[in-house]
Amino acid sequence: MQVVSAVDTFQKQCLDLRCSGRVIALVPTMGYFHEGHLSLMRWARENADTVLISLFVNPAQFGPTEDLDRYPRDLERDQNLARKEGADILFTPSPEEVYASDHDTWVDVPGLSTYLCGQSRPHFFRGVCTVVCKLLNMALPHKAVFGQKDWQQMVVVTRMARDLNLPVEIVGRPIVREPDGLAMSSRNAYLTDTERRQAAHLYAGLQRVQDWVREGERDTVKLASRLEEYYAKNVPSGHIDYVHFVHPWELTPVDRVKSQVLVAVAVQVGSARLIDNMLVQG
Ligand code: AMP
Repeated sequence: MQVVSAVDTFQKQCLDLRCSGRVIALVPTMGYFHEGHLSLMRWARENADTVLISLFVNPAQFGPTEDLDRYPRDLERDQNLARKEGADILFTPSPEEVYASDHDTWVDVPGLSTYLCGQSRPHFFRGVCTVVCKLLNMALPHKAVFGQKDWQQMVVVTRMARDLNLPVEIVGRPIVREPDGLAMSSRNAYLTDTERRQAAHLYAGLQRVQDWVREGERDTVKLASRLEEYYAKNVPSGHIDYVHFVHPWELTPVDRVKSQVLVAVAVQVGSARLIDNMLVQG
């Protein structure tokens, strides 16, 4: 596995790879790898000839009061894990490599970005789309692999790729969870023991929603308030940012659970903002 940090070196290597006819998959990440990241790398290894991993904590997607400075990092461990998963190139650029000091071009998907996380993180998806677009232009992959844990990100990036005719397939992969159901996340490292125990109820609550729907409740206002009550009781350290029932690909609110609905939640637990989601069948 090569570790490359210069954009022009990486882009040239990727262009040569693409011209050689190899199928290339890119896994964009912010590092501090866990099984969720590794599952994306494994999918890439099985479905492409060349696996590129980018590891870049993207300043453009953090708000001024967010956790950019303390975002967990461990490059040596990440290198070993990526090597073990059979990555060909680990791309680790610095912010200065990625953004020129007079960088002035942004990629925005303003409609989809206003829902869910976009309400409390107004510049987040603009930062995500800009960096993903730049990474796709650098790496020129046939496939780019994203986790469904960040469902809205997957939807927004899919729309961006379609709207801009980017020659890439956006692939979404299932959420990898801890044994107690908590969705794996680099930010779980922020949780104290008590918060960590409570955080498992984020997923337990989503499973309850599926039960309530099976029992016949279809009204999403009632389902949302039952879920909020469940969190208030079982995640007392948490502050709910949102509990929303939306169309999975439009992200627009849904009144009743008829066919497939996405239940998406964001809860601030201590200093970690945790998100999770589940597709619920009517
Ligand atoms: P991050 O490093 O948090 O930006 O995540 C990099 C990629 O890994 C994104 O596509 C995430 O959606 C994905 N990812 C993060 N956590 C998980 C998880 N628990 N299961 C599956 N994919 C994940």
